[in-house]
Amino acid sequence: MRPTYVGMDRSFPTTRAAGLARLAAFTPRMGHAYVAGRNTDYGPDAETETAGLSPYLRRRLVLEQEVVDAAGTAHGPAAEKFVQEVFWRGYFKGHLETRPALWTGYQRLAAEGRAALAANSGLRLAYERAVEGRTGIDGFDDWARELTSTNWLHNHTRMWFASIWIFTLRLPWALGADHFMRHLIDGDPASNTLSWRWVAGLHTRGKAYAARAENIRRYTDGRYDPAGLNEDPVALEEPDSPSARPLPAADAPPVGDVALLLHLDDLNPESLPLGRARVVRVGGLLAHAEGAVDRVVQADRDAMTDVLARAAAHFDCPAGPADAGWADSLPIVTAWAPVGPSAAALPPALRVRRSWDDAVWPRATRGYFQVKAAIPAILQAVASPEAAWR
Ligand SMILES: Cc1cc2nc3c(=O)[nH]c(=O)nc-3n(C[C@H](O)[C@H](O)[C@H](O)COP(=O)(O)OP(=O)(O)OC[C@H]3O[C@@H](n4cnc5c(N)ncnc54)[C@H](O)[C@@H]3O)c2cc1C
Repeated sequence: MRPTYVGMDRSFPTTRAAGLARLAAFTPRMGHAYVAGRNTDYGPDAETETAGLSPYLRRRLVLEQEVVDAAGTAHGPAAEKFVQEVFWRGYFKGHLETRPALWTGYQRLAAEGRAALAANSGLRLAYERAVEGRTGIDGFDDWARELTSTNWLHNHTRMWFASIWIFTLRLPWALGADHFMRHLIDGDPASNTLSWRWVAGLHTRGKAYAARAENIRRYTDGRYDPAGLNEDPVALEEPDSPSARPLPAADAPPVGDVALLLHLDDLNPESLPLGRARVVRVGGLLAHAEGAVDRVVQADRDAMTDVLARAAAHFDCPAGPADAGWADSLPIVTAWAPVGPSAAALPPALRVRRSWDDAVWPRATRGYFQVKAAIPAILQAVASPEAAWR
């Protein structure tokens, strides 16, 4: 039966089955409809013209390659815009992986920001007004409440929110990124940190993103008409950003029995490049974003429950939390964990990397354009049998 798309349901059950259902329902809209409608935010109760796949892609309950293949098969060249947007995710992942100091720098600024909130009552009041939606700025206040009540925001709204936060409310960008990471159900170290830096004018140096009232009126379908925005922002500055390091090499999986360690950055063990390794134990490691709210923690737990059940069936072996001794003395193999909480929490293990990441990440050391220009070559390099549309 052909699935029908009935609007953005923000319950986001974090299982692979739910992700695949969302993918199937949205696939018919990945072509011209996406190009025409993707920039408009009609509000949390209305249909949106974007996929709502980010909670699934972030955890790899659904793979970028599956989404891109579905788009291409259904729409051919008309899927180009959608495919390019999916590649923003890989671009940001590769950029942070080759510049990990941007993540530790953000973490330091966020910690300093939180300490400043405790010490400076003026800053704290301004921060509380912003996160609770009491600034008086039309649109912004609703988005603040929408974020904490639905744990998701439209991309354009994230851009306006971040711009107003930094340039109109003059709050520290890292505190805004930290607030997003705690509340977003798709909170991702790379996409979130680097998007906030992009809005601030730190990613593309000197080029800040301006939230303009006219643009907000137009792309909220006239729902909001904010006054008093700083529409001529001056990009933030910082000392030279770190230069890119080469991508660290991945490991080859050993031949024979292994224990597979799963984490929240890759919950698709069925498709991992495990070579001739034989998985005889599966363990799950839960490392949430710092300060993640209950709903985000629960979404992570549900995703882990889902993957452990799938892995037990797929590998026909025991699967459970990676408690002490879970792996016996077997070699531990894991999917490459990009910069973030999982990578920080992983024990020593052999790390295998997907050909998708190997194709995208080395091209992500500078601007997005290099990745965008290489999309046809990347898709050739990772071609799967069902990708006859290429
Ligand atoms: C300030 C700010 C913070 C953000 N924080 C996050 C975050 O923590 N996690 C996150 O996944 N995305 C983040 N994004 C990117 C983007 O807003 C979301 O990926 C997108 O809104 C997800 O909705 P969708 O699945 O309907 O997207 P669609 O437009 O349907 O796109 C499909 C998929 O492509 C990827 N994608 C699309 N646009 C972008 C983009 N600009 N950057 C990176 N990936 C993209 C996502 O995986 C998305 O699910 C942020 C953007 C901004 C401006």
